[in-house]
Amino acid sequence: MSESEVRNLIIIGGGPTGYTAGIYAARGALDPLIIAGYQAGGQLMLTTEVENFPGFPEGIMGPKLMDDFREQAEKFGSKIINEDVTEVDLSQRPYTVKTYDKEFKAHAIVIATGASAKWLGLENEQELIGSGLSSCATCDGAFFKEATLAVVGGGDSAMEEATFLTKFAKNVIILHRRDELRASKIMEERARKNPKIEFMWNTIVTGYKSEQDGFVKKLVGLELEDTVTGEARQMEVDALFMAIGHRPNTKFLPEELERDEVGYLLTTEHTMTNVEGVFAAGDVVDHRYRQAITAAADGCRAAIDAERWLAEEGLIE
Ligand code: NAP
Repeated sequence: MSESEVRNLIIIGGGPTGYTAGIYAARGALDPLIIAGYQAGGQLMLTTEVENFPGFPEGIMGPKLMDDFREQAEKFGSKIINEDVTEVDLSQRPYTVKTYDKEFKAHAIVIATGASAKWLGLENEQELIGSGLSSCATCDGAFFKEATLAVVGGGDSAMEEATFLTKFAKNVIILHRRDELRASKIMEERARKNPKIEFMWNTIVTGYKSEQDGFVKKLVGLELEDTVTGEARQMEVDALFMAIGHRPNTKFLPEELERDEVGYLLTTEHTMTNVEGVFAAGDVVDHRYRQAITAAADGCRAAIDAERWLAEEGLIE
């Protein structure tokens, strides 16, 4: 199919949601195009073993699971390109989806762009990512055996990451900006009972201390501030893990798509957004469950909704 032809369906996003939507849409003979992003695979590419995806009692590596999803979507005829969508024009039908150097048209769109971990936005942050700064304990924890590690955040992610990191670390310090956690009681209890975990309350990170290590800079410590007294202090750490929540990947989308105050897309009828024929699914909508299995299920729902909508509109048989 050439770029200028109007497609039935374009799926934006190459994580569990996008690939599952592709499997269902391709099996529904919609001949979908999946624009999977330069870093296709989504957040599962940042994990090691996934133990809670049903059907894999021995567990499966996140990247392998995503490769298999992709292969299955292709097997049934989804076309997949690894490009980032730069712009979506919903002002007239059929809709236009642009990448850096290509333009596609489609009657329906499934947005499955997921969410990304939030960072603190401090000076030198970008260059320290991978050199002592991480947003993924499961990916990077094993590099820090017998180390002193810090986790920033007070939600379930912070408790989970800190607990996981104690498998390797000498000790883990949770830095939280208040004196009360947001985490669920069970996750809090687990962390509190862990002798390797210590809490530092009313504490924010205000800066990173780094040293040159060969060609790269590596994190060696943190500058901290007490949120009650304003007192500044420093702490030596081998790594800091971010657990301060996620941000939906919706920046490139036009304003007419309704979002909540954080930017998560809102759906009106099942998975359809406020714009006819534009569906949203997975972590770009869901900040509650955020699991591979729920994201995949959402992709299935969006593909079924898109197919029914296309049929109702008389755009497919
Ligand atoms: P979250 O619940 O939004 O918690 C984010 C934490 O980071 C909060 O404690 C917040 O502090 C803190 N924070 C936010 N911005 C900050 C900043 N700039 N500087 C310092 N601290 C900052 O996010 P989450 O922990 O990722 O959880 C998200 C959802 O996934 C939740 O519904 C959670 O239950 C779920 N989840 C479940 C599990 C599980 O059940 N296994 C595991 C992980 C996540 P404040 O509290 O002061 O706002």
